[in-house]
Amino acid sequence: MTEMENREPLLTVKGLKQYFKVSSTYTVHAVENVSFQIYPGETYGLVGESGSGKSTIGRSIIRLYDPTAGEIMFDGMKIGGKISRADSQKLRTQMQMIFQDPMASLNPRKKVRDIVGEGLDIHHMYSSSEEREEKIANILQKVGLAPEHASRYPHQFSGGQRQRVGIARALIVNPKLIIADECISALDVSIQAQVVNLMKDIQQETGTAYLFIAHDLSMVKYISDRIGVLHLGHLLETGTTAEIFEHPVHPYTKSLLSAIPEPNPIVEKQRIAESYDYKTSGIDYNKGTDHLVSGTHYVKCTDEEFQRWI
Ligand code: ADP
Ligand code: MG
Repeated sequence: MTEMENREPLLTVKGLKQYFKVSSTYTVHAVENVSFQIYPGETYGLVGESGSGKSTIGRSIIRLYDPTAGEIMFDGMKIGGKISRADSQKLRTQMQMIFQDPMASLNPRKKVRDIVGEGLDIHHMYSSSEEREEKIANILQKVGLAPEHASRYPHQFSGGQRQRVGIARALIVNPKLIIADECISALDVSIQAQVVNLMKDIQQETGTAYLFIAHDLSMVKYISDRIGVLHLGHLLETGTTAEIFEHPVHPYTKSLLSAIPEPNPIVEKQRIAESYDYKTSGIDYNKGTDHLVSGTHYVKCTDEEFQRWI
C-alpha cells in the first residue's frame, strides 16, 4: 500500500460529525468523528448495520448536509460547508451516487434514454442529438444493456437491469467518485455478484473510485481495496481488505466476520457466529482513539483495550 500512500487521496473525510437536532432536548449523533480517505480508482467499502450512519456519511459527502464538524476534501478542494457555484457545478459531475432502490430513484414516467441522458442535458455534454444518442447507447452497452433498451420505461426491467440503468446514469458524466449506497442489497444474491463484477469491470476501464456502502461484509470483500467498519456512528476499524479479513481486531469487526456464511459446508457447520452487544461489551466508543495496528490498519479503542485485543 506504499504506492497508495504516495498518491494524493481523491477524497478525505476528517473528523466528520453529523448531528441532527430532532427536538429541543434530543440530538441524534448520526456520525461521530469519522475519518477515512479514498484514493483515485480504488474502492472503499463502508460496512455497518442499519442506523450506523452509512447513508449520512454518503449524503454529507455529496453535500446534502452541512457537517456539524470536520472537513471533507475532494480532489484538493474543501467541499464541506459553503463552496462557489462553479465548484458545485464541477462536483455534480465528478461525484455521482447509485441508490439502493432503483425503482424509487428512477423516474417511472421517463424512458431510460432520458433518465440516463439527464446528466448530459444538465451539463451540456453533447453538441448534437446524434452525439447524445450515441453516448447513451455506449453507456448502456457498457453496463450490459442494449441500445434498444433506451426506449423502455423502468418498470419494463428486472431489478438487476434497473440497477444497471442506475449505474449507467451515474457513469455517463464520467465521475471520479461513485457513492454506491447499498446498491446491491435489494437484489438476489446471484444478481448481486453480477452487478459487483460489472462495477469492477467499469472501474478497470474508467478508473473511477467507489465508496461502496453495505450492511454486511460478504460482497464488500470482493470489491473493496480497503474497508471501514462503522457502528453507532463511529468508525471502529479500517484497513486493507486483507488486514480486516485476516487480522480483525475490534470485537465488533470479529462479530461481523463471523456472521458471513462459509461456502464450504464442512467449514460452515463449524462456524460460530460471535455475538456482540455494545451495551454489555464494556467498550465506550467515545473514549477510544485511533491505534495503528500495522500498515494502514487502524482500530479505534482505548489504550487498555488495545493491549487486551492485540
Ligand atoms: P444507515 O444508512 O447506516 O442505516 P443512517 O445514516 O441512515 O444509517 O442513519 C444514522 C442515524 O441517524 C439513524 O439513527 C437515523 O435515524 C439518524 N438520521 C439520519 N438522518 C436523519 C435526519 N435527517 N434527521 C434525524 N435523524 C436522522
Ligand atoms: Mg442507509
